Amino acid sequence: MGRTYDGASSRRLLASLRDIMAASGTGQERLDKIVSLIAAEMRADVCSCYVMRAGEVLELFSTEGLNKTAVHNTRLRVGEGIVGYVANHARPVALDNAPSHPSFAYRPETGEDPFLSLAGVPILRGSKVRGVLVIQHKDRRGYAEEEVETLQTIAMVVAELIAQSELVSPSEVSTTGDPVLLPARLSGTAMSAGLAMGLAVIHRPQLTVRQMVAEDSEAELERFNAALVTMHSAIDDLLEAVTLAGLGESLDILETYRMFAEDRGWLSRIREAIHVGLTAEAAVQQVQNDTRARMSHLTDPYIRERVQDLEDLTNRLMQHLAGKTSGADAATQPDDMILVARSMGPAELLDYDRSRLRGLLLEEGTPSSHVCIVARALNIPVVQASEALNRIEPLDQLIVDGDHGQVFIRPAEDIQMAFSEAVALQHRKEQMYAEIRSLPSVTRDGVPISIQLNCGLLIDLPHLKASGAEGIGLYRTEIPFMVRSSYPDVQAQTDLYARIIDEAGDKPVIFRTLDVGGDKILPYMSGEAEENPALGWRAVRIGLDHPSLLRQQLRALLLAAAGRPLSVMFPMIAEVAEFDGARRLLDLELKRLAAQGVEAPSRLRVGTMIEVPSLLWQLPALLPKLDFLSVGSNDLTQYLFAADRGNPRTSTRYDSLSPPMLCVLRRLVDECARHKVSLSLCGEMAGRPLDAMALIGVGFRTLSMSPPSVGPVKTMLRSLEVAALRDYMTGLYFGSDHSLRDKLKTFAKDHGVDI
Ligand code: PEP
Ligand code: MG
Repeated sequence: MGRTYDGASSRRLLASLRDIMAASGTGQERLDKIVSLIAAEMRADVCSCYVMRAGEVLELFSTEGLNKTAVHNTRLRVGEGIVGYVANHARPVALDNAPSHPSFAYRPETGEDPFLSLAGVPILRGSKVRGVLVIQHKDRRGYAEEEVETLQTIAMVVAELIAQSELVSPSEVSTTGDPVLLPARLSGTAMSAGLAMGLAVIHRPQLTVRQMVAEDSEAELERFNAALVTMHSAIDDLLEAVTLAGLGESLDILETYRMFAEDRGWLSRIREAIHVGLTAEAAVQQVQNDTRARMSHLTDPYIRERVQDLEDLTNRLMQHLAGKTSGADAATQPDDMILVARSMGPAELLDYDRSRLRGLLLEEGTPSSHVCIVARALNIPVVQASEALNRIEPLDQLIVDGDHGQVFIRPAEDIQMAFSEAVALQHRKEQMYAEIRSLPSVTRDGVPISIQLNCGLLIDLPHLKASGAEGIGLYRTEIPFMVRSSYPDVQAQTDLYARIIDEAGDKPVIFRTLDVGGDKILPYMSGEAEENPALGWRAVRIGLDHPSLLRQQLRALLLAAAGRPLSVMFPMIAEVAEFDGARRLLDLELKRLAAQGVEAPSRLRVGTMIEVPSLLWQLPALLPKLDFLSVGSNDLTQYLFAADRGNPRTSTRYDSLSPPMLCVLRRLVDECARHKVSLSLCGEMAGRPLDAMALIGVGFRTLSMSPPSVGPVKTMLRSLEVAALRDYMTGLYFGSDHSLRDKLKTFAKDHGVDI
């Protein structure tokens, strides 16, 4: 074991480092001094610095202990040798027996054979590796955490030397492969639908840390504490602004965020680094680099999103330390702006002027990341594409195609024209949809169709008024559970449901009880891994096995209704006995609240989803017990055809517009009519104009869909003559077709139905 490396040694080293940086000399001279200093202070036999050159080559730029003739001659590719390994993984290594490491590559010209132990750290700037800093010892020894941390701190200083282009020319450091002005296309992942054109605004939250070593640690600590206080109050302001703007769900996300801001582990690590002698900015950045490095190998999406939240906070804290309040400087933003960011937190997105924001391009992120949830609610197209920052210059013309997951950079005239037309068409359609909002939702031959919304976020609620929908046909209660970091208690649930009922006003809301499991995972609920989660322990099955969970939710719903009407729907019911079980729990809660003198809902409607085919054979027993039935066609199709809805190889193999599915749907229409039970459909089918047309032909009169589908579906139905369609479809139910899509399209075309 090596001697312990304490805070005093680290402070001494950092103080000398400050002197080197302040002294005159070329970049190379300063680097040589830094390398000698590290070797001396850390009592290392070797200290070397490798710098990234064009073509992803790491060149030995300076060394103390290896052959000096190897400087500027020894080069390693990223991934080659331990140095290349550190660069490749952007993570420190500490090895007591380096030659036994699988990546070890021996370079005879360096004369490094006698050195057994090695610690290496990446030289990081932003998200890019600019080089590698290494110390080596002859003897076999471990490295203390403090030693690795000190190397990381010094690596930050070296990163600045490189960035100030004192070591290699900026053209070499730039990784932009293409000549800057040529058009380019990036293909990525579609994360939020829609088309956007505009000028690139590079979201650079990172402020350069100019001074690494503090003159006075106490004063730095005070500065840090003051910045923390202003950051907290700024987050509070943001929370308030978001609430006022009706973006209530972002509230939840930001609350999680504030929790991080108060995270003691994070704060104490920063304070420790200040105590060791760093400036507040350098300490914040060091903890950020360290967290990034420690978490970079974790692939769990939830943890990665939390790391993202922490980065977002770090950037805010840096801005507050620098005396700036926001990274979004409105004065310099173009009117049509496309944000380009490595990654971004939801609060950072909300910092930008929404009236100018057209699209978002992220290098990292998943559709379920908080920033995407917020972007979708704001109707901003999002594409994720790696390499975006390397290819795009500020104010480059960009087209973000959130429907197909592609981005055009500096597009040629013809592409710009084509997309301008598509964007204009999109706007015209949106305008047209806005115009028909107040027109009745009736077919050409006078059949009224009730259009309802599928919601899951408070942020969706403003759409209820804007779209002209009649109510919320499906409120997915699991979504607010999914964006929280802990299980909401009865009070938190009551508050949430009450806000939804309040905001919906006199429009009805159908609350579906918790539908987790399958692809909907709650981060804080650990369950056993299932071989077949879609067929596993999910939705009402969990609620029936853990009645207290379901009872708490039902209690919260009853309390939230507070004497107003309430509709409750159970998901994934597979047999009447399950419905009875769930209903019994609701009755128990009703009784309990009555005993406490709580007012019962003025009208309680209870229904179920039909997603599991077995229920089709219990309709006569089930329907008399229900007030309404809603078809979950997403799951019903998956179970009917035994085709995983989340697997692209099977999900498109069978068509919902096929004879078997239409027969099932028609049967439901007939049975519900016989038992006088309201029927609706709330799967994705309802929101696709052609499918919605077929559903109306089958006999559905209530369709529940996501907000952007309301305009297209309403346009379709207002041009439809139901009687003609019903007659046409009579001949389709029992054929041998794989799909009826083409036939239905032809019908629409021949009859002027606007699909
Ligand atoms: C469905 O299965 O069609 C449905 C609406 O439920 P979810 O998509 O939430 O599973
Ligand atoms: Mg479902």
